[in-house]
Amino acid sequence: MLKTFSIGGIHPSDNKLSAQSALMQLPPEGTIALFLGQHAGAPAEPVVNKGDKVKVGQLVAKASGFISANIHASVSGTVAGIEPVADISGFKKPAIVIQVEGDEWMPEIDSSKDIVRDITIDSQTIIKKIAAAGLVGLGGAAFPTHVKLSPPPGKKAEALIINATECEPYLTADHRVMLEYAEEVLIGTLLLKKALNAPKVYIGIEDNKPDAIKLLKELVVKYNYDIIIVPLKKRYPQGGEKQLIDAIVGRQVPSMGLPVDVGVVVQNVNTAFTVYEAVQKNKPLFEHRVTITGKEAKQQVNMIVRVGTATSKILEAAGGMPESTAKIVCGGPMMGKAISNIDAPTTKVSSSILLISEKETKRKPESNCIRCAKCVEACPIGLEPYLLIKQAQRNMYDELEANRLQDCIECGCCLYSCPAHIPLLDYIRLARAEVLKIMRSRQK
Ligand code: SF4
Ligand code: SF4
Repeated sequence: MLKTFSIGGIHPSDNKLSAQSALMQLPPEGTIALFLGQHAGAPAEPVVNKGDKVKVGQLVAKASGFISANIHASVSGTVAGIEPVADISGFKKPAIVIQVEGDEWMPEIDSSKDIVRDITIDSQTIIKKIAAAGLVGLGGAAFPTHVKLSPPPGKKAEALIINATECEPYLTADHRVMLEYAEEVLIGTLLLKKALNAPKVYIGIEDNKPDAIKLLKELVVKYNYDIIIVPLKKRYPQGGEKQLIDAIVGRQVPSMGLPVDVGVVVQNVNTAFTVYEAVQKNKPLFEHRVTITGKEAKQQVNMIVRVGTATSKILEAAGGMPESTAKIVCGGPMMGKAISNIDAPTTKVSSSILLISEKETKRKPESNCIRCAKCVEACPIGLEPYLLIKQAQRNMYDELEANRLQDCIECGCCLYSCPAHIPLLDYIRLARAEVLKIMRSRQK
């Protein structure tokens, strides 16, 4: 029987409409904008000035603390300014704007297709190269990868899990990476294993990607790699760290704990690919892979895009927006964020542009809770969402904390399951932010 996590979860239709579309390159043109704070932690500090000429892969902003990440030019050209630029929500944030001129790469980057299989450097050098290349977790959190590879004193990674579930409906960029860069993904996985000195490594892939499972299994046997490929039963939100660890090694991350508390480090499959590029090819993180999709999208596309490209340019290259589009989402339909500024530049973690039509956005009318407990059944954390929203509506923060609202992963399973169409996630998100704020101020 295929493995999966033990509590809650839902089975939305996966709508992987773009799964057969090979990754295509979007050539850089016009201007791009690189946000200084596009990762978890402190924003990077610019090391270039207006008027400077830069090449692709050149450092333009330096990490400003332990939890921070370097940023590199994704295009060659002239720095047009360091100024506020509106993000997908319309909030202005400092960014380095570069006018594209040609496509000249830093000479140390190996841009050939030759695969570099030999791993000749030690774990500390791997981590240094990952930090220098500005790698962040590409599963969405944008946590600097080198920090995750340096567990706190007293903690050790007994297992590394590569998250190749891509459990959100519609998204297919990770799937394409596995099919088109399978060897690179496996070498990146071995580099992460070495960096962590982890005795075991697993790659967890949902069974709706049988071609990727087959290919990776064949290559592991061919090269005799010490990697275990684990097919998983399709179920959302299997890509959540806690759910994936439960599914693969059967360990439970404690409330407010980290995976390393149970001896596990989780990295995304796309991150493993960028680790290969950074360590074996000296290529910093300046490109990302993005799915452009939707039931009524003009084309189903997977694209390799330079970081900082305007969303509108990507859409244009994917055939434009159909007239029926009512909402554009960055990410998947369950956990993605609505885009209100279509000209916003992408970031290192932008993985999808989902076009949702008018008829799909219509919310069904809300009715009273019928105490069916479907939300409880669906919650992968074991919370009681119907109770949490009652307490959230009354600002009962002590009770919310006692009922572990802080452990909610905002997966939306409760909302999806509710026959009364109560906007559970809206209430839960707001109240959770408040509870976390209270907890943080208490710690201080
Ligand atoms: S959003 Fe939170 S409360 Fe709702 S199912 Fe997911 S984890 Fe549970
Ligand atoms: S699923 Fe909806 S209707 Fe059912 S108990 Fe939960 S909140 Fe109430």
